[in-house]
Amino acid sequence: MKKKYLKPDVDIVEELSKKLFIANKELKQEKQLKEDMICNISHDLRAPLTAIRSSIDYLNSSYDIISKEELCNTLSILDSRTSILETLVNDLFYLISINSSANNFHLEKIDLTPVIEEYYYTLLSDAAFDNRHLTLMCDSDKVLLANVDIARFLRVLDNLTTNAKKYSNDGDSITIGISEDTSLDNIIVFVRDTGIGIDEKNLNKIFERSYTVSSSRTPTLSGSGLGLAIVKEIIQKHNGKVYCESKLNEGSTFYVILPKA
Ligand code: ADP
Repeated sequence: MKKKYLKPDVDIVEELSKKLFIANKELKQEKQLKEDMICNISHDLRAPLTAIRSSIDYLNSSYDIISKEELCNTLSILDSRTSILETLVNDLFYLISINSSANNFHLEKIDLTPVIEEYYYTLLSDAAFDNRHLTLMCDSDKVLLANVDIARFLRVLDNLTTNAKKYSNDGDSITIGISEDTSLDNIIVFVRDTGIGIDEKNLNKIFERSYTVSSSRTPTLSGSGLGLAIVKEIIQKHNGKVYCESKLNEGSTFYVILPKA
């Protein structure tokens, strides 16, 4: 039988090579992000470890001569630096576990309206939020179904509300709400605060792994720098999106968009 030679379709080949080029670029960016993350985290681990090492050395060399006050101060340094290490290691482990096991997401069809309402009432009874005005925006009668891993979804709410508290001041407001978009295809969950806000030039970086705005602006705040990266990963695993609108010194709103079930 005679073989027929089919000339490759130039458009298809061109299209494919474009796609390959983009995929390759994305892989390189992903690799770079991972390397940056490891580099940032090693750096972030070093600071509390150094403080812990010097406190222990100090206690070892002078435990029999230091005053009770000095002992308390040193123990308090050890306590706070160890907490920083714990947060870092826990968040890092959580982020890696989301990525390594896509299958351990247990998606269930859930009405998110009562979830947000209950979450709001938990915040109201949380002493950490005592100095913030808390508001709930939702229509209690509206059933808003989404396929959600509830434990992971609550982690998203925890991270966003903790940030809203962390990056605002006494007397500021925090609003948590749920609605649907105009197409009625998606559910919108949002967490809004009237806190310190984010400079426009930093907005696109905040979801990066291990990005923390310069310590010169937020000198007393501590965190792993992984909270929003965790939020982004979880929401992506739900086929959703997350973004932020913010104005420096006016506040920020974080939107989570989830497809309706
Ligand atoms: P962390 O809070 O541990 O630094 P995150 O990933 O949670 O890490 O946040 C990344 C950065 O985004 C923070 O360092 C902070 O600068 C900024 N940010 C996050 N949430 C808010 C918020 N509600 N208001 C102002 N800045 C925020």
